[in-house]
Amino acid sequence: MKPRGDLFGSFIDQLATAVKVPEVSPGNVGEWAAGTYQGGSPIVLDRGPFTFERHEYLVEPYGDDHPCQVERKSTQRGNSTRAMLRMFHAARHLSMVGVLYLFPSKTGIGDFSRSRIAPLVERNPEIIGRYLQDTDSVGLKRFNGVNLLFRGTKSEEGLRSDPADFVIYDEFDLMAEGVEGAAQGRMEHSDFKWQHYLSNPTIPDFGIDRKFQQTDQRFWMLKCPSCGGWTCMEDWFNPSIGVDQEIIVELRGEIVRLCMQCRNAALDPAMGQWVAKYPGITNMRGYAYSNLWSLFRTPESILEALHKLTTRTAPPFWNYVIGSAYIESDARLSKEQVMALCAGHRIVQKDRGPCWMGVDQGARYLHVVVGKSWPDRIVYVGVLREWEELPKLARALGIHCAVIDAMPETRAAKKVSESEEMAGKAFLNWYNTGKVIAWDEKHMKVGSPRTETMDDSHDALKEGSVALPADCEDVREFAEHCHNVASTWEEDDEGNRTKVWKRLGADHFRHAFNYAWMARNRLMGSGFGDCDLS
Ligand SMILES: [Zn+2]
Repeated sequence: MKPRGDLFGSFIDQLATAVKVPEVSPGNVGEWAAGTYQGGSPIVLDRGPFTFERHEYLVEPYGDDHPCQVERKSTQRGNSTRAMLRMFHAARHLSMVGVLYLFPSKTGIGDFSRSRIAPLVERNPEIIGRYLQDTDSVGLKRFNGVNLLFRGTKSEEGLRSDPADFVIYDEFDLMAEGVEGAAQGRMEHSDFKWQHYLSNPTIPDFGIDRKFQQTDQRFWMLKCPSCGGWTCMEDWFNPSIGVDQEIIVELRGEIVRLCMQCRNAALDPAMGQWVAKYPGITNMRGYAYSNLWSLFRTPESILEALHKLTTRTAPPFWNYVIGSAYIESDARLSKEQVMALCAGHRIVQKDRGPCWMGVDQGARYLHVVVGKSWPDRIVYVGVLREWEELPKLARALGIHCAVIDAMPETRAAKKVSESEEMAGKAFLNWYNTGKVIAWDEKHMKVGSPRTETMDDSHDALKEGSVALPADCEDVREFAEHCHNVASTWEEDDEGNRTKVWKRLGADHFRHAFNYAWMARNRLMGSGFGDCDLS
């Protein structure tokens, strides 16, 4: 702008500057929501104006603008509301171009839009409503000129296009694998790169529980009104069913949360402070929420629920009420459990068969498991570097039926399955979400339900109906891979929960065994089982 010497010009300049002066800073998300900044008024939620009363534990998270936050939560702790208000606050007061709010399924988007966004907009015409521009799409809102994108994670398409500065993962544990990579791609050009993960935990070392372990791990510690000592309730509430816990007990005729320092006073969930277990970790911020210290849940009701636990009700109790990860003992095999299947026989390189084989394609190598029946035992566990080695091995081990992972190198797999040694015996496998195994002898293909076949081969290992070769490096790796899968639940696009086997680490031998077990069952069902196969 050229300098203006006259009075009027200077006035115009002042006006231009005045227009650019930002309004009174609304402070952090908490101050903005509670309306405690100068001239502010609180945001109205479904239960009335926003307040921290009875939600004292939320004051600090609401004031937290750490760019990478992880919330491992129990139910009804206000985490989704906080994530939603963070989204609006960022879009209103930070210079972001887009916020991506992710749900496991598409259904979540509609529900969120109807039950959360619409009432919030209606009740807050001044603070929210007037900045919202109508769009026809349920997956896109324009707020203060910023794109608010709502997406399910089942189809990757939705995660590809528009740029974002902030990604929120709501119910992270129920999302499809690989969602993070796709979502982070959207933030490549962002100066913010904010991430907010929130979820009820499901199984240990998975999803939100694994994320939380990477953070500074903040727990809400309660201060004793009598002795002034601190107690972390989660540390004292014993997770083993049937074991007496000592933190929720009767004290002078009343069921209370007991101070673990003096053991003579009741704790008040409102009197607490967030304390990090690992304050040295600064790149990821984590909060753990539990209904153990909810003011909306009496200690009696928790004790009652604990006493009524069955194997069926235990996982939801630990995940949703206590806010901790939990796995039924038979949903994941321990390495020791698998190694206990080792018999005296050694891994062989030659056998007259008839044997059954399973082959999993990894990023670089082929993982192969070969077994023989009567009694069922694994005779070979190994890794091949080249496809050409597979037909030779199949011949040396007298393979009568093989199931080979068709992906990702379908052409190489097909070529090998049509080799002289394997033709007519090797099926290419594609996992699906159906219920039955479909063998296609004409094209030597098989479509198999991933969950059901994994259940079946899991039972074989769990019940010890298959023996392993004696302890050696390959067998130990096999056991490790078997330990690296666990069954849990995932939400589909209609919002239905289905059982799935999740990968918790390298699991190639586990899938090779799954394919081998399918081959074994095919041989057994073919009338072949009547022969003497020893
Ligand atoms: Zn005390």
